[in-house]
Amino acid sequence: MKLPSVIPPVFRGKAGEPPGIVAVARVDRKTKSISKRLNTGEIAVIDHSDLDRVSAEELIRRKVSAVVNASMSITGRYPNLGPQLLLDAGIPVIDGVGHPMVMTYSDVLTGARVPGRRVAIIGAGGIGFDVAEFLLGDAAESLEPDAFLRAWNVDPALVTSGGLAGPPRADVPRPDREVTLLQRTAGRPGVRLGKSTGWILKARLRQAGVRMVSGVSYTRITGAGLHYELDGHPALLEVDSVVLCTGQESERSLYDELAARGIGARLIGGADLAAELDAVRAIDQATRLAVTI
Ligand SMILES: Cc1cc2nc3c(=O)[nH]c(=O)nc-3n(C[C@H](O)[C@H](O)[C@H](O)COP(=O)(O)OP(=O)(O)OC[C@H]3O[C@@H](n4cnc5c(N)ncnc54)[C@H](O)[C@@H]3O)c2cc1C
Repeated sequence: MKLPSVIPPVFRGKAGEPPGIVAVARVDRKTKSISKRLNTGEIAVIDHSDLDRVSAEELIRRKVSAVVNASMSITGRYPNLGPQLLLDAGIPVIDGVGHPMVMTYSDVLTGARVPGRRVAIIGAGGIGFDVAEFLLGDAAESLEPDAFLRAWNVDPALVTSGGLAGPPRADVPRPDREVTLLQRTAGRPGVRLGKSTGWILKARLRQAGVRMVSGVSYTRITGAGLHYELDGHPALLEVDSVVLCTGQESERSLYDELAARGIGARLIGGADLAAELDAVRAIDQATRLAVTI
């Protein structure tokens, strides 16, 4: 089963106030091998159907903060105790992230995968909002000034107060998609979006009828959709696609290759730390480095 290329459970956020679980995620197809590499508090990303008792006990001994399984921890083929032991130990388990309906935000934004009509977006941070807008927005608005002016009801003659002829138009055609944006954190989604542009995204998504659900605990992904718990009650969101907007890994292959050949290189920006939406840090690091070399 294919493991997603983006590590799902590393939740993003500003330094000091991250939502959800923020921890190093270790990936391995074999639970036995990953157990040897896991440190306290880390997240185990495994691919293990019918998680057995011995493997679960080992994960508990390693004090992992969460387990993300590409397969189903219980398939129903035979009784197995592993998942219950993990849950009893207070370790959340998310199942089925290797399901074919699951894709990463980069799959979607690069066009490598096209989500279906009903979409669940896991992670309502900046990238989650951007992906929802990408799925529901009209690309013409970015490319054609007239389309932009029409959608936002801008008065091109600038004779009306504020240059707007009224609120954004609701009659602009939108793709026939139902999008639900979910987050583990309680409270209103989007509170941490940028002050200058966040309101635009929120207005756009409201206009497009995006549903937002906070405070959920994801349990598994099956052919029926995304299963989660809200206020202790199990729920199923029937969707065709699940898009993970919950974290990313640094792309360091070039750095590793250079280091292996003994060629000096420095890491900055996303290659240094990919856990935050922080272009400012990337620019700052690059500028400071540039003046020293
Ligand atoms: C959907 C989305 C929305 C975001 N919104 C915001 C936001 O609103 N505010 C904010 O502050 N941050 C935002 N970010 C994060 C921001 O984009 C990153 O923090 C920033 O781009 C990091 O800059 P960088 O130069 O380190 O990496 P990048 O911008 O990723 O640039 C790295 C470049 O190196 C190239 N590259 C990689 N490997 C190689 C190689 N081996 N050889 C040659 N080239 C290579 C890549 O193709 C890429 O062009 C967002 C990110 C995403 C995905």
